[in-house]
Amino acid sequence: MHDLTRCVQHPEVSHEGFRSLTVPTYRASTITYPDAESFAARGTRGFDGYTYGLHGTPTMRVLEAQMTALHGGVRTVLVPSGQMAVMLVFLTFLAPGDRVLVPDNVYSGVRGACRDYLASRGIECTFYDPLIGAGIADLIDDRTKLVWVESPGSGTMEVQDIPAIAHAAKARGVLVGCDNTWCTPLLFKPLEHGCDFASEALTKYVGGHSDLLLGSITVKDIELRQRMKVVLRAFGVGVSPDEVSLALRGIETMGVRLAHVGRVSETFARRLRDHPLVERVLHPCLPSCPGHEFWARDIKGSGGVFSIVLKPGAEAALNPALTAMKVFAIGASWGGTRSLIAPMAVKGDRAVNPWTNEGAILRISIGLEQEGDLWGDLENLLVALGAGTIQAAA
Ligand SMILES: *Cc1c(COP(=O)(O)O)cnc(C)c1O
Repeated sequence: MHDLTRCVQHPEVSHEGFRSLTVPTYRASTITYPDAESFAARGTRGFDGYTYGLHGTPTMRVLEAQMTALHGGVRTVLVPSGQMAVMLVFLTFLAPGDRVLVPDNVYSGVRGACRDYLASRGIECTFYDPLIGAGIADLIDDRTKLVWVESPGSGTMEVQDIPAIAHAAKARGVLVGCDNTWCTPLLFKPLEHGCDFASEALTKYVGGHSDLLLGSITVKDIELRQRMKVVLRAFGVGVSPDEVSLALRGIETMGVRLAHVGRVSETFARRLRDHPLVERVLHPCLPSCPGHEFWARDIKGSGGVFSIVLKPGAEAALNPALTAMKVFAIGASWGGTRSLIAPMAVKGDRAVNPWTNEGAILRISIGLEQEGDLWGDLENLLVALGAGTIQAAA
């Protein structure tokens, strides 16, 4: 064999005796076939078989199977982001003329898609009060094909009565999808509470290190998965095996990370509640959080993300006080090892129940830094806000 041929044909080596605990990262566009017959018949391999790197590699199958097992579903599809996970369900199951019911506190990217893309394609998003519960029945008409839930909701953290919503939707033959990113399947399994789709931004707690973007949708009805795969194929959407490989590493430590940030976020939420500059703490573990009873009934614990509403006036010194923080970073995409803080613009993003609190809202995501360092940084923030408030009043 010529050296040039040797260069492109990797020699086969033994795998005998090699049993690693890690999942190999299989990179592939094309895959090859043992004979012309199997090549010709590749179309019959179905969505569980291998035909092309875009449609699945063994690395992807491992993460899919892991999410499926965690959610108690039958199949999972992977997509390049959490936003795409939500949109894949919308684009697969909604046609022009259809309506989807969306909670008023939905992830801002979904609200943006309703306004900037779906409306012009004849798909109507109707926002509803996240605390509507069984009352969702009154909003379902013949055009309604999907009810979306997200609990706790983005920014304002209302917890939804998902079993009641799902029950009412099912009674009308309407599909129900849940964005479960805050909970992860470790704290809540939407498919066990009547939902048809469990959507996750794996970018957050599964990835866990702020260095990847991925989403997943798990279903308990294989037909729903077939329909989503048809759409992914049509769009030519797949995920990178390297991203999946990072997610497979991240998911191994998700349990200990989530338990830690959940405990610290609850501790901080209780402490912040008593601070004179804090108007409200929005954390599902507190009885004052709207829907707290559903958190206590359905959800097994806490994630690390919650919000505080400052007393009006405290925002005078907010920007420099945030900039001066030493441990918290200012940023939006939570779920990594670093703690984040960010002001949230909620007012313009509520269509059903106008947001009436005047004070600024800060969203806090707890990471893995030492608890005392984090608390000290938050105390410094509040001291700086307090000084600013006094100055503004003088
Ligand atoms: C971050 C997030 C998303 C979007 O995930 P990306 O991977 O960043 O697109 C969707 N839903 C919720 C609740 C999120 O927090």
